[in-house]
Amino acid sequence: MEVKFRLAARHDDRARTAVQIGPVTVGRGDLVIMAGPCAVEDYDHTLAAALALKEYGVHVFRGGAFKPRTSPYSFQGLGKEGLEILAAVRDATGLPVVTEVLDTRDVELVCRYADVIQIGSRNMHNYALLREAGRARKPVLLKRGLAATLEEWLLAAEYILAEGNDRVILCERGIRTFETHTRNTLDVAAIAAARSLSHLPVIADPSHAAGRRDLVAPLALAAVAAGADGVMVEVHPCPGEALCDGDQSLDPTAFARLVPLLRQVALARNGLTAPWDAGPVDPAARGIG
Ligand code: PEP
Ligand code: MN
Repeated sequence: MEVKFRLAARHDDRARTAVQIGPVTVGRGDLVIMAGPCAVEDYDHTLAAALALKEYGVHVFRGGAFKPRTSPYSFQGLGKEGLEILAAVRDATGLPVVTEVLDTRDVELVCRYADVIQIGSRNMHNYALLREAGRARKPVLLKRGLAATLEEWLLAAEYILAEGNDRVILCERGIRTFETHTRNTLDVAAIAAARSLSHLPVIADPSHAAGRRDLVAPLALAAVAAGADGVMVEVHPCPGEALCDGDQSLDPTAFARLVPLLRQVALARNGLTAPWDAGPVDPAARGIG
């Protein structure tokens, strides 16, 4: 394993990596909550959503400007205009923003506006994009490919690290299985396994795993119990009208109910010394919800 993951592998004598996103640190014991709509739709709704989410304790605002849609006829995102909206919302709220980059040609552009660049599930195997993100001077949120093994996911991270960018956050977002009652199957074991194999922070996206809003809360709680350093949840002010992924989006009220539960689970979890995760985490960070 060590030979395969030269840079991503965890070493017992070294501290875990913590990734700084503005005032927020991912991977130091505090549960980091990222939330926002699947796609940026317009300034007013995006700002209203971000202001509400900030009230609920969200640390990082999410929203797609470049959307990787299964159908070319579906809403593809606002592109550069979406990035401008995100940056304006960041300026108005103080919340750092994460957004996806789909194309190597847009990495520089996205980096101009975003605090974190996301490489989505469909692009986890896009090695040119991984390399370009590795040369970017921004943290990278790397989603697990929807049919990628844990090893392939860590090797994708290795591409980014090998280019000199050590600010990588792994994100488990569900994988394809024979099961169809959820959009994907959240691989809870992979959250614990990735944290055990790698020093990189690991977060979970229960929304794209579930594909349906009634299962987002239980999956998010399970992810935190399994050791996730954070969660990323899709929230839309009016899910029924969302241009993308409305079925899996929580409305702000449901999300507000979830946040204190997530914190309670994180607090309980941080109070445990998990034998499978007994690495050199900063002891001061333990016990912080
Ligand atoms: C997203 O976060 O909006 C997204 C498209 O996620 P994934 O790449 O996990 O499907
Ligand atoms: Mn989505």
